[in-house]
Amino acid sequence: MTIDRTVSDAAPGHRDDDRPQIAVRCPADGRIVGAVDDLDAAEVARICEELRTAQPEWEALGPRGRIGYLLRWLDWLLDNEERLLRLVQAEAGKSWADASMEMAVAIDVINYFANNAESFLADRAVRPAGLANAIRRLRVQVRPHQLVGLITPWNGPLAGPMMDVVGALVAGAAVASKPSEVTPLTWREVVRGWREDIGAPPVLDVVTGGGAAGAAVVDRVDMVMFTGSVRTGRNIAVRCAERLIPCSLELGGKDAFIVLADADVERAATAAVWGAMTNSGQACIGVERVYVEAPVYDEFVAKVTEKVAALRQGMDAPGSFTTDIGAMVTAEQVDIVADHVQDALDKGARVLTGGQRRTDGNFFEPTVLVDVDHSMRCMREETFGPTMAIMEVGDENEAIALANDSDYGLSSSLWTRDPRRADRLSRRIEAGSVSVNNALVATFQLPVPMGGWKNSGLGTRFGGAQGVLKYCRQQSVVQDRVSLKTEPLWYPIIPAKSRVVARVSRLLGAHDWRRRLGRRGDGGSSRR
Ligand code: NAD
Repeated sequence: MTIDRTVSDAAPGHRDDDRPQIAVRCPADGRIVGAVDDLDAAEVARICEELRTAQPEWEALGPRGRIGYLLRWLDWLLDNEERLLRLVQAEAGKSWADASMEMAVAIDVINYFANNAESFLADRAVRPAGLANAIRRLRVQVRPHQLVGLITPWNGPLAGPMMDVVGALVAGAAVASKPSEVTPLTWREVVRGWREDIGAPPVLDVVTGGGAAGAAVVDRVDMVMFTGSVRTGRNIAVRCAERLIPCSLELGGKDAFIVLADADVERAATAAVWGAMTNSGQACIGVERVYVEAPVYDEFVAKVTEKVAALRQGMDAPGSFTTDIGAMVTAEQVDIVADHVQDALDKGARVLTGGQRRTDGNFFEPTVLVDVDHSMRCMREETFGPTMAIMEVGDENEAIALANDSDYGLSSSLWTRDPRRADRLSRRIEAGSVSVNNALVATFQLPVPMGGWKNSGLGTRFGGAQGVLKYCRQQSVVQDRVSLKTEPLWYPIIPAKSRVVARVSRLLGAHDWRRRLGRRGDGGSSRR
């Protein structure tokens, strides 16, 4: 086996030469570019124990201390940008443009939480409710889950884990991160950078291996953040329920893109192509289904077809930015795309451009499908590839009904020049976010939640403070301002005292004088 020696073979902090290895191949040409340990459950347990041991000191550093390490990590990422993006390319076969986006996401996420985490994690003073509690001082403070399991898929080797690890670390948790076995090299190196190059506390480690290693993580941690397929997400949710630990799931999508007749068709077409093809369509929030109102359908289809046909496909040289989209990460995913296209053709669809898999790597040509309907797999199942299926609709009601006719509900896109129409229709779309007159942007707005409805997930990532608080437990602290010798509800129960308590409670809680005074009435609601 040829292993790329520019990459350390050892997962940070542990090494066993007899351990089974997983080879990593470049999707663009099939060459082996590295290998990682396939860790077993005992090794995962050991890593988790080490992380737990390190966590209390990390929490004690406080947000400011933790942010200091995150900013040093950001410096390290930037200093090693080209080397890391070469790794992203090597294991994911991306165009340099798609690889570079991963660094942009990492920069945004670290800076956002570095700027805001202190206020997100601050204690919250709360006004007491009810006169009887006026003597109390209420505070909500947050404490992290000690150990978070972060399990990620293969479409974003750097950005995927980075989108979640920062919130967990800044919260004060330790993190056992489990990258996809298909693309583990970049993340392993980034974690090595955290531990060895910047000398950060050993509260972040990488668990390499396949599904069994991921399951072992779920068995050991206190909270799981998972991004990946619906099938695996459901398995993890079941296991978390058995263990009574929380999980947050970002799952698949089948995002709809609605173009109404009053839209800016040129901009919509450009955005649709970007939204469907970016990362070779391997984006959970990628545009998969397009519904276009009849008056602009022909114009939109013509523009989209021209733009898709012009896309340059291939893994370009590092730093060159000379292709638009790269390879697909796995041959199995290319099979799925080919199956969806064939199924559509069998049922009467037409390909306007693309439609073929290439034989020189994991490539499928950027493809536009028309004459599609909801009997076809390309309109119902996640394709996760460089295809766009376009359907003509009679009006906005039909567009919304079709957009909502899906098991998924991750994100969506709505195109109209009328802001009130956009506002009204956004409330009818069954998806976790709506980008109006844009594609994909809602996902990368860190102050608002990103989360899937229906089969697309459980919980949210980001969302301002919620992006950190999801890794925390809330702790309420109630202190009396004055210390009385006893309280009305405490023992002993004395009839006269208890009657007074009951009367005061009624006096303060009822909404009309008859009930305040405890008079018998007609049984009706004589509420003032
Ligand atoms: P996957 O579910 O097969 O694997 C994801 C991760 O889970 C991998 O690291 C894998 O090793 C691990 N895993 C597998 N079985 C496990 C188990 N039983 N317990 C614990 N971990 C286990 O997904 P994939 O094929 O790697 O990725 C593609 C999917 O990810 C697509 O469905 C895509 O939509 C989804 N995705 C979602 C988002 C989002 O934010 N919603 C983002 C990117 C990708």
